Amino acid sequence: MTSTPQTLRELSCADDYDPNSMPVDRARQYIGTFLKPVTATERVHVRAALGRVLAEDILSPIAVPGHDNSAMDGYAVRFDDLGSEAPVTLRVTTETAFAGKPVKNALQPGEAVRIMTGGVMPQGADTVIMQEVTTRAGDQVTIPALADAKVRSRGTNTRKAGEDLKAGSVALQRGWRVNPAELGLIASLGVNEITVYRKLRVAFFSTGDELRSVGQTLGPGEIYDSNRYTLYGMLMRMGCDILDMGVIADTPEAVEQAFATAAEIADVVITSGGVSVGEADYIKSVLEKLGEVLFWKIAMKPGRPLAYGKLGNAHFFGLPGNPVSVMATFYQFVREPVMLLSGQTRLPPLPTFKVPLASAVKKAPGRTEFQRGIYRQQADGTRSVTITGDQGSGILSSMSQANCFVILAPETGNVAAGEAVEVQMFEGMV
Ligand code: AMP
Ligand code: MG
Repeated sequence: MTSTPQTLRELSCADDYDPNSMPVDRARQYIGTFLKPVTATERVHVRAALGRVLAEDILSPIAVPGHDNSAMDGYAVRFDDLGSEAPVTLRVTTETAFAGKPVKNALQPGEAVRIMTGGVMPQGADTVIMQEVTTRAGDQVTIPALADAKVRSRGTNTRKAGEDLKAGSVALQRGWRVNPAELGLIASLGVNEITVYRKLRVAFFSTGDELRSVGQTLGPGEIYDSNRYTLYGMLMRMGCDILDMGVIADTPEAVEQAFATAAEIADVVITSGGVSVGEADYIKSVLEKLGEVLFWKIAMKPGRPLAYGKLGNAHFFGLPGNPVSVMATFYQFVREPVMLLSGQTRLPPLPTFKVPLASAVKKAPGRTEFQRGIYRQQADGTRSVTITGDQGSGILSSMSQANCFVILAPETGNVAAGEAVEVQMFEGMV
């Protein structure tokens, strides 16, 4: 690439832009150039922040934990009182340090304070001996020599004030998505309201005169629309505001109307179907009339045809019609842009790693293939991946049986059983 194209028109003239065989990575990179995240924000209560994106850094108003405290149930002692070679016996004071109930008196030499996990360290104490290694008799407790007491150094079995977060430090950064760990962290600061970006509004519709919606009766040759349901599921899980516009008839007027409405109400417009040759013609002309759109034949399988562009301020993704292609192109081309547009700055990649194939795979060189796989780990730790049967792009049950894509690079041909292949898990770990 000579320079980064600033507009879709410039891009369509770029030296290395070939709409008829666009490599997966190149297409992804191009789309990335045009993404501008949402900027509007809103205040939400901490629980309502699950799945939202932080619009400001969250500073810790307090140290977490607030005090030096015990990591064990046992006895708080002075390290200097312990015996490096021989056991010692200390006098147990009458007060007990429970979590949330600090003791009043400072520890004196020769004394031990009974302490529970989370109990504030008494003044003068610096180390905790776990209960299990001690022997108690009346108000005396005997503590074995350091090694037997599992004491490595001064401070063993204690947690230091501020060791999780220092007061005034950045606890969470703007652009991070709030997952369960972040919810807990925000709560640990005592913060109950935070500023997040508004949700990304995503409108989608299906095109195709053969499509009926659930609840309707099928006529000859008709099929139920499933793409709006997979799209709904994938977008809901990403925390988007969903605008389901239904099935749009295969007429230029209906499509033009739908695009105009979608571009008004949404940040992102997604369609499925009608991007292949022939049938796509008027869709292409409508898009060119209303916005700037590029049609690509991506060098991938499934999911060859794909359109990307701008409709007014909205980003447009024209996905193929076949149900498996819709999911494959969504995962590969829409998922990351949706995260970026939502304001996310930390993009968790889908977990990807190499695993041996359980049985041989057929593939012709030329395109990147996203075959559907079942990744398994046996009780003995052996890992493998098996391709789900027929890889037709209309076989949606393959996506349901599978738990990963097996990604085969363009240059790869047939792969023998036992060879390692790249798998990409459907579920992102958080
Ligand atoms: P198209 O790209 O419109 O030619 O569609 C390719 C294939 O996907 C055709 O067999 C369509 O019937 C099918 N298809 C298109 N849209 C949907 C949909 N929303 N749900 C299920 N199948 C679809
Ligand atoms: Mg169609």
